[in-house]
Amino acid sequence: MAQRTAVVTGASSGIGAASARALAADGWNVVIGARRTDRIEALAAEVGGTAIPLDVTDQESVDAFCSRVETCDLLLNNAGGAFGTASIAEADVDQWQAMYDVNVLGTLRVTKALLPKLVASGDGQVITIGSIAAREPYKGGGGYNAAKHAVAALTRVLRLELLGQPVRVSEIDPGMVETEFSLVRFDGDAEKAAKVYEGVTPMTAEDIAEAVRWVASRPRHVNIDQILMLATAQTSAQSVHREL
Ligand code: NAP
Repeated sequence: MAQRTAVVTGASSGIGAASARALAADGWNVVIGARRTDRIEALAAEVGGTAIPLDVTDQESVDAFCSRVETCDLLLNNAGGAFGTASIAEADVDQWQAMYDVNVLGTLRVTKALLPKLVASGDGQVITIGSIAAREPYKGGGGYNAAKHAVAALTRVLRLELLGQPVRVSEIDPGMVETEFSLVRFDGDAEKAAKVYEGVTPMTAEDIAEAVRWVASRPRHVNIDQILMLATAQTSAQSVHREL
């Protein structure tokens, strides 16, 4: 059988990078995108894939990226993140817009562009990384909650609309995973980011990548619709047991 191609967005760190490694180890030809091209080029060299610059908030960049993807059997929509933890009263509209753009419209842009190739593959799969924030509102999570709820809606509508077509649609919603996520959320403040994981054993990017690998390797008659994955020490967005 010809080698199948998996496209991974946001593969320059965290869950995306770990998933690209896991998929490559499972025999997938990986095409990886992100804005930090030095990192994706190093990863592509390591796993034998192809690195292409990608900014999911920029339609021209998405078009250029997707035009270089010859065939696509699997799309992992992973690029995303949170900016800030402001309350609704203190909300920064620009941050909300940025979260909506990268998480929701970014997922839409790439999915829409690659859908014809996913259908043409005869057994396509879209796996989207959502979040516990897509299922449960929490104080200070407003903008990220709104964006990830929208990502979940997009993913579930896509599943409905593709019924009868050869494309499976899955959503993996992680809780706390130690990546660069909190560093980005707190605008590079390493001390604040470290506090998020204080006294807790969070999940690792590799834990989520293992779920991605498993979902991607189910037989074609099985669609894993939704997975919620939490660290053992976390039972909901803000219920976390810390050993301090
Ligand atoms: P991360 O280490 O910060 O990785 C985020 C990735 O997204 C990076 O590769 C980044 O690459 C990419 N990205 C950001 N903006 C982009 C853009 N405009 N265009 C293309 N790529 C972009 O965080 P992570 O935890 O692995 O996050 C991956 C996904 O998991 C996100 O959707 C996040 O919301 C979700 N998630 C994370 C957690 C958690 O606790 N860590 C929990 C639930 C869900 P560049 O900056 O190089 O472009």
